[in-house]
Amino acid sequence: MTAPIVIHWFRQDLRLSDNPALTAACEAGRVILLYILNEGEPGARQLGAASKNWLHYSLKALNESLRGNLLIRRGDPSEIIRTLVQETGATGIFWNRCYEPWRIKHDASLKSALERSGVTAKSFNGSLLWEPWQVEKPDGTPYKVFTPFYRKGCLQAPEPRKPLPVPEPMQLHHVSTKDELCVDDLNLLDCRPWSMRLSDHWQHGEQAAQNRLYAFLENGLINYKDGRNFPALAHTSRLSPHLHFGEISPNQIWWALAIHEATGDIDHFRCELGWREFSYSLLFHNPTLPKVNLNPKFDSFPWAVEDQRLQAWQKGQTGVPIVDAGMRELWQTGYMHNRLRMIVGSFLVKNLLLDWRLGEAWFWDCLVDADLANNAASWQWIAGCGADAAPYFRIFNPVIQGEKFDAHGEYTRRFLPELRDLPERYLFKPWEAPKHILQDAGITLGETYPLPLVDLKKSREEALRAFEQTK
Ligand code: FAD
Repeated sequence: MTAPIVIHWFRQDLRLSDNPALTAACEAGRVILLYILNEGEPGARQLGAASKNWLHYSLKALNESLRGNLLIRRGDPSEIIRTLVQETGATGIFWNRCYEPWRIKHDASLKSALERSGVTAKSFNGSLLWEPWQVEKPDGTPYKVFTPFYRKGCLQAPEPRKPLPVPEPMQLHHVSTKDELCVDDLNLLDCRPWSMRLSDHWQHGEQAAQNRLYAFLENGLINYKDGRNFPALAHTSRLSPHLHFGEISPNQIWWALAIHEATGDIDHFRCELGWREFSYSLLFHNPTLPKVNLNPKFDSFPWAVEDQRLQAWQKGQTGVPIVDAGMRELWQTGYMHNRLRMIVGSFLVKNLLLDWRLGEAWFWDCLVDADLANNAASWQWIAGCGADAAPYFRIFNPVIQGEKFDAHGEYTRRFLPELRDLPERYLFKPWEAPKHILQDAGITLGETYPLPLVDLKKSREEALRAFEQTK
């Protein structure tokens, strides 16, 4: 008897190992390996340019590891899956769950439609250590503060699942079709120069994610707790885009760390994975998180009117060096170190008084790790309106932040070559440098490098007054 035909639907799980839905599909029968690009979904957030760029290369890597057997479609997943089921006689469909609100809605209605027509539909947890509904307070309500969420919720819940191997054997069912698509047909690459250059900074796909994890475990983990604050050092894993696209699972990272227990700051690193879980829990319980202040007191906050200062921030032309270095790292590489994300975020929201949603949207377009849950939760945290948020009076001083976390200016000079020859003493506040020092460094403020957009002291005081009302 031939095995039944089933479909594995790849989404944010672009890997073969530790893929619970793929493993279940392979156990159930001959598998059709499907990817659907769905643009224009009602209520959905469209992929940003940097995410599309990553997705292009990630799909190529996945298809290569599947020896060209990835069936690519474009359009409404419900329609595509229904048609494919009719054409092939597939009896089951398997996928790993996604947590974007519009996907939760879509998946629920797809599942019941398939089941009504006699097709088995099974979904799995392939991207979180714990499901959002698994980690709740004893009274059944969601946690709003990170520490108890992680310590009492996550760490007291059953241990995360151990990673699964690549399913073997993988019996495939080939679909011959007249409208075959390849990755290039999806037109994910944007031909603007900034976008074209992103891929120079990254290796994509499952193997690259594993390589990055093991390089980090060997060299970065040892001093993670302190080192993670210094953007010039390689003490962060840079696994975030791999995690977002599911080229690696958090379970693979969690358990790989166990082997390195003796060598580094594994608890601290696991705790950062806990922040990711917290963001997903917040999004799950507050589906409007990317748009609506968690704290309603912020609904009447007097945000400044959007003006050309937003473009100056986006392009790394604020005249405040550490802010500009962070924004240019983002623009050039599709990534920004976490310390910088906090500095540039605080500057936008608290020194420029611009609405956090403007920053969230820019990050969404430019980050290769743009992630609905992490991005929205972090921006709300920065603005002070989120769960367990930074208190309103915590306003990062970008000069002190630069002096403390990039003391020798290595990171700042890398992204601001026009300030390369400025001595450390003035690197983070060129406006205070004497004329002859600027001259020797080849800098004319307002010409070769901008004057600061705002006076840091005055804008801080204004912010404190504005934020007082949210107390
Ligand atoms: P590591 O320090 O190596 O941490 C390992 C993993 O833990 C990360 O890959 C990430 O999955 C998770 N993690 C670490 N810190 C956080 C955090 N604060 N919140 C949630 N998860 C965390 N992260 C995203 O993945 N996508 C985003 O769109 C995103 N937007 C952000 C916006 C702002 C304003 C801020 C302040 C932070 C944002 N972050 C976002 C969180 C964090 O900055 C990144 O996850 C981290 O910098 C990624 O680098 P890494 O993989 O080297 O991190």
